[in-house]
Amino acid sequence: MAIFTIKNTDNKKILCTQSPKNFAPLNEIECATKEDVANAFIRAREAQSEWKHVPIQKRIELLERLATIISQQKERIIDVVISETGKPKQEALSMEVYSALDSIVFYCKRAKKWLADESIKLHGPMRFLKKCKVIYKPRGIIGIITPWNGPFILSINPVIQCLLSGNAAIVKPSEVTPLSGQLVEEMFVLAGAPKNLVQVLIGDGEVGEALITNKPDKISFTGSVATGRKVAEQCGRLLIPFSLELGGKDAMVVCEDSNIKEAAQGAVMGSCMNAGQYCCGTERIYVTESIYDEFVEEATNITASLNQSDQDIADVGATFWDKQLDIIDDHVKDAVAKGAKILVGGSKNPSLKGLYYLPTVIVDVDHSMKIMQEETFGPIVCIMKVKDEEEAMRLANDSKYGLNGNIWTQNLNKGLAMARSLDTGACSINDMAMSYGLNEVPFGGLKESGLGFVNGKEGFRSYCHAMPVVIGKKPSSIYPYTQKSYHQLEQAIKLFFDNKLFRKLFG
Ligand code: NAD
Repeated sequence: MAIFTIKNTDNKKILCTQSPKNFAPLNEIECATKEDVANAFIRAREAQSEWKHVPIQKRIELLERLATIISQQKERIIDVVISETGKPKQEALSMEVYSALDSIVFYCKRAKKWLADESIKLHGPMRFLKKCKVIYKPRGIIGIITPWNGPFILSINPVIQCLLSGNAAIVKPSEVTPLSGQLVEEMFVLAGAPKNLVQVLIGDGEVGEALITNKPDKISFTGSVATGRKVAEQCGRLLIPFSLELGGKDAMVVCEDSNIKEAAQGAVMGSCMNAGQYCCGTERIYVTESIYDEFVEEATNITASLNQSDQDIADVGATFWDKQLDIIDDHVKDAVAKGAKILVGGSKNPSLKGLYYLPTVIVDVDHSMKIMQEETFGPIVCIMKVKDEEEAMRLANDSKYGLNGNIWTQNLNKGLAMARSLDTGACSINDMAMSYGLNEVPFGGLKESGLGFVNGKEGFRSYCHAMPVVIGKKPSSIYPYTQKSYHQLEQAIKLFFDNKLFRKLFG
């Protein structure tokens, strides 16, 4: 049973979606045509040409109104998200609503400071000749292409940042969750945003491609490695700046000196939150042999106690997409065929009608199995016994992905040293990986998990062009070049660079 289908009628594509909870049909939506995409750009250019002159205080006021609207409309947002994803209500509230409000409050408070002109103190002899400022100019139109696993937050978070910094946004949400994507435009309309400043275009990869063809001033892409590569190729050809937030296969390392109960809770939460469909979800758990049995018993008991349900109150909800359910099933079957053992779960949930995979504990896994190599994105607690921490770290780094990871030890200095040697964009110690949710820090993957940053000061400013403006204090021409001018330059070099005190003072 497919969760979305695209019907072709009279040169139009109609996107039809069904709820993963029970296959109930949701809305039918007309996909944007190439012409629609081009027209959206014309409208966005016009809107942005005015918006970039709107004082930052007024932009902040719009975003503050948006926060009020999101808060007032939270039940509607939750309902739409649940209908398209089958998430437990608490996850819809925490991941989609709380995170959106938190992002607005955070960036509104810092936007003025981060977008203000910066006076740069020049070093060396140049400081006597020139002054410099860096100004943060909006780029223009930001194309935002997003996935289905955080269908509202992953679309609205970049829009918040790019609007505050003076840009217009065109969003292409996933074809799996189009209604949650449409909510973004709807919330901005309700907040009184200028017309066409935020537009959402519905459709599949073709619409995503057309979005890039129209040459936005930056692409912010979140999705799979395979599509990220295509987006990078297309942006590369057109010389469009881009950021890529891609998939992961996050490792958890459980040291001998960890608090085993807490580590087991972290393992289950990290693996099963959002039914495992979390880019920084825990997908591989390496446990040292001396504590292995105790850890496995704890993790198995917790997993067995989880409530999976299609009701609002549940611990683990649905898999949002039938294609993903097939991938989870394939990875588990491949692992079992190669010798892995299921301790709990291990199949689709036979007592629920929709797309539900049972919370599962699987052991005796190794790196020959897909479940330890490819992104599974399911509620699977996947545990491997290792001799010691050294072996755990070697295996943790043996992956083409490098998004996040987590280390469990009661020795924080050791944990920090281990974090430094993990080849990932971020790492948690004694916590499940959740650096996307911390707006203070830049978020970005290493290896095939991405390029560039979102969030934090770095991510926020990446929606701007940092433009140095140099102000001459003295006319810079030293023509004509003469023996004397050459000698003066030599003397200056000697004075500034041969003298340790001068280097320290002016370096
Ligand atoms: P996907 O790559 O299939 O699709 C992502 C988006 O790209 C969709 O909107 C899709 O329509 C669009 N698209 C498809 N082909 C395109 C093309 N040729 N040009 C432009 N756009 C195109 O990914 P998905 O299955 O929707 O999302 C799941 C993936 O996203 C997982 O790998 C997950 O780890 C990753 N993810 C990463 C992060 C992060 O921050 N690193 C966050 C969430 C999800």
